[in-house]
Amino acid sequence: MDDNTKIVVVGSGAVGSTFAYTVLLKGLANELVIIDINKDKAEGDALDLNHGLLLAQPMKIYAGDYPDCKNADIIVITAGAAQKSGETRLDLMQRNVVIFNQILTEILKYNDSAIFIIATNPVDILTYITIKLTNLPKNQIVGSGTLLDSARFRYLISQKIKIDPRSIHGMIIGEHGDSELPLWSLLNVAGVNLAEVDYGCHFHLSNESMEEVYNNTKNAAYQIITKKGATYYAIALSLSRICEAILGDQKSILPLSAYLNDYKGISDVCLGIPCIVGRSGIEEVLDLPLNNTEEEQLKNSAMQLKNFIKQIELPSNIHKNVKL
Ligand code: NAD
Repeated sequence: MDDNTKIVVVGSGAVGSTFAYTVLLKGLANELVIIDINKDKAEGDALDLNHGLLLAQPMKIYAGDYPDCKNADIIVITAGAAQKSGETRLDLMQRNVVIFNQILTEILKYNDSAIFIIATNPVDILTYITIKLTNLPKNQIVGSGTLLDSARFRYLISQKIKIDPRSIHGMIIGEHGDSELPLWSLLNVAGVNLAEVDYGCHFHLSNESMEEVYNNTKNAAYQIITKKGATYYAIALSLSRICEAILGDQKSILPLSAYLNDYKGISDVCLGIPCIVGRSGIEEVLDLPLNNTEEEQLKNSAMQLKNFIKQIELPSNIHKNVKL
């Protein structure tokens, strides 16, 4: 990691403040700036976190404003309207585009070299919007994508086959949302493909179990929001995992929302696909050996997002050269 690392989080709600806490616990940066339109919330969170410094890692933590984005290595955006019970991620789209335009205009006055990590939903669309509004190199704009979905997927499988989720290699790709898809054909434990193991084998998953795992993965956010209003612990850990991969130039493979250009015929959209993640953000989008069903499902996911993007009305103050 660099000697002097600076992370800015814009949006100190449930996700942003929990992410800030993970930065403190993991000692991910020397400097952590918290920005929120609700300045009291940002200041309260900064104070609260500072009171834990003695018990964690030395770090400079403060509530700031957009000039404090200067020299930041990573800017994480979690600001926006939170998903309400029963509301789809895509319902949030229009409100959050307006918020993003305001935030990005301010950030770009002070920093155009940071890696931007987007978490606000609908995350694939807002990652795409961030690319279009900033016109920055596409590797610099990273959406949290299906990293959280993949963590949920692996956890749920671990419960079925009684194996540590870290030893289960599998992914959810596509939209972070209703059209996401599980890569059953590539799911493996110790190199053993779960789609191919026989009934009776320790790792065997019945068709019913697979269906249940997929549905519970896809509906996890709805379940949690119904019970407690928001999801934040696992997404905060997902965001700090992405920061670790970037700051440590780890070349980790993470399923993040990346800009696709002729990816199995899919172009001009951001979707969750395994990427090599290092100091320059998304360093490569991996060309996976998908089966025909998975490829069709991925194309369907892309089509759904593209159809939503077509419905977006850009705020009238956006430069006329920006086209979606
Ligand atoms: P929240 O309502 O608790 O927090 C949002 C914060 O954004 C608030 O503190 C608000 O004051 C701030 N904000 C609003 N407008 C702003 C602006 N213009 N400038 C600066 N700050 C502004 O919501 P939350 O639960 O923290 O969720 C945040 C977002 O993260 C939502 O869009 C949610 O759907 C999304 N989310 C994404 C994932 C994922 O996997 N990508 C997972 C969970 C939540």
